[in-house]
Amino acid sequence: MKDKTKIGIIICDRYHTCAGGKCLRALRNREGAFSTYDAQEVELVGFTTCGGHPGGNVEYAPEEMKKNGAQVIHLATGLVVGYPPCPYITYFRNFIRERYGIGVVIGTHPIPQKYYNVHMKLKTWASPKWKELLQPTLADEKTRLSYD
Ligand code: SF4
Repeated sequence: MKDKTKIGIIICDRYHTCAGGKCLRALRNREGAFSTYDAQEVELVGFTTCGGHPGGNVEYAPEEMKKNGAQVIHLATGLVVGYPPCPYITYFRNFIRERYGIGVVIGTHPIPQKYYNVHMKLKTWASPKWKELLQPTLADEKTRLSYD
């Protein structure tokens, strides 16, 4: 039997009406930050927003997800591509790891090309920190275009 990984997703509250279409599609297709699961079985055990700036729900939501078996929490791609990107993204990652002892991955679905283009012009992601944070969701241009 294949190993199963249970995951939770926390999205930026700016996109709180999002139905999760891109995240679920990427999870199904093992694209973006889900590509590392490859042939592994993955179960989504929690999906919520940060609770609104400055992200109060990040303090509590991982606990509920962990109780439901979550081994990894994905901070959704909206935190990376928003205008501006979430200023707390690395704090959230470090906090969840330290407080709950579970894995955290930056991103979910591949970065849509239209966001990529604007952020390149703005030089939003020019720092080494952002280069690292982008890695899971950067994908290739063809894939990014398919998420526009
Ligand atoms: S920018 Fe960060 S803290 Fe603000 S609403 Fe989005 S995820 Fe939450």
